[in-house]
Amino acid sequence: VRRVVVVGAGMAGVQTAVALREQGFAGDVTLLGAEPHQPYDRPPLSKAVLLGKAEGSAFDVDFEALGIELQLGREVLGVRPGEHELDTATGPVPYDLLVLATGAEPIRLPGTEGVPGVHLLRTLDDAERLRPVLARQHDIVVVGAGWIGAEFATAAREAGCAVTVVEAADRPLAGALPAEVAAPMTAWYADSGTTLRTHARVERVESGAVVLDDGSRIPAGAVVVGIGARPATAWLKGSGIELGVYGEVVADDHLRTSAPDVYAVGDCASFPSGRYGERLLVHHWDNALQGPRTVAANIVGETPEPYDPVPYFWSEQFGRFVQYAGHHASADTLIWRGDPAGAAWTVCWLRETRLIALLAVGRPRDLAQGRRLIEAGTPMNPDRLADPASPLKAA
Ligand code: FAD
Repeated sequence: VRRVVVVGAGMAGVQTAVALREQGFAGDVTLLGAEPHQPYDRPPLSKAVLLGKAEGSAFDVDFEALGIELQLGREVLGVRPGEHELDTATGPVPYDLLVLATGAEPIRLPGTEGVPGVHLLRTLDDAERLRPVLARQHDIVVVGAGWIGAEFATAAREAGCAVTVVEAADRPLAGALPAEVAAPMTAWYADSGTTLRTHARVERVESGAVVLDDGSRIPAGAVVVGIGARPATAWLKGSGIELGVYGEVVADDHLRTSAPDVYAVGDCASFPSGRYGERLLVHHWDNALQGPRTVAANIVGETPEPYDPVPYFWSEQFGRFVQYAGHHASADTLIWRGDPAGAAWTVCWLRETRLIALLAVGRPRDLAQGRRLIEAGTPMNPDRLADPASPLKAA
């Protein structure tokens, strides 16, 4: 392989380029990114960057020293795998080996496209537009009580805004966590002075207000929509590269796509998890760190293990540090470890006797120990798991 081209200069793209050099790849590496900014990290956008506590979150990577050719502000419009060529507005780009790392884009609220005062939170530009909105301390309506909605609400409260979160489901994080686990998290909203309205569907956004389908009007100086993200793969339609049910690139257990010499990694791709027996589409930072190492190892010709991580993510919301490792299904057995009304607790999920997932609130040690037990697939003693005073270890 002489020339590797990586499309998308976010976490997964940058880590792929860096991992190639770390693993000794000596050919050309070109990184194409649609955004004009120096590549940056996204998690701080809903935290320090939003509050102006950090100017930006550019990656600390010396691309020049690593011999990585960075082409920013260059959006890729299509790919012709047969010809090993990409298309851009300024001409084609040939590759020997291609890595797709275009991440995800936020889902818009229907009917709000171009409506002034309606914001998304995915990019540095979004965060910079929202910073003065927070500083004006307007009434803010957040649509969606997911991870982004909770983190944005946290920042907006800290900035002194009045915040209402409207959620169509009966609870926050309905797609991610069972009702029993979301219940104590619901109380966090009220404790922080955030109004949470569940079963609330947005009918339309007017100037200065959000109108719900029950007719109620919520004053809104600004609206922030956090209703999920979908893989940024529209540009791959018609290329012949297989896309899955969520529009994601379907990768195999070495992160290869259906086209020869094309890999996919990060938020844009799903992979078959041997560990969990299903295909996973992970939209979290750690996956964009780990996946690139597998891709790079494949490219430099090593025979890496199948990509089968224990997924991990964290969230900082309402003064709490929330961490999750693994992947659970509704049939798995849930075990509480600690008092959900308290400041720190953990929830464990067992499949038969094995720990397969864990959510830790303010208990980073549980997370670290649990993650290793999940990786090892060690049988557990449920009684000991339930005792928050005893360390998480094998039965
Ligand atoms: P992205 O970061 O989306 O990068 C993809 C890049 O590709 C983008 O820069 C995009 O402009 C570019 N691109 C797209 N299409 C094209 C094209 N056609 N041509 C050229 N370039 C293109 N995860 C956690 O685990 N914990 C957190 O606390 C956390 N907080 C977050 C907070 C926010 C506000 C956001 C938005 C995400 C957060 N995440 C968090 C998720 C995490 O940031 C993502 O999982 C991670 O950024 C995925 O990296 P990626 O490189 O796959 O995709």
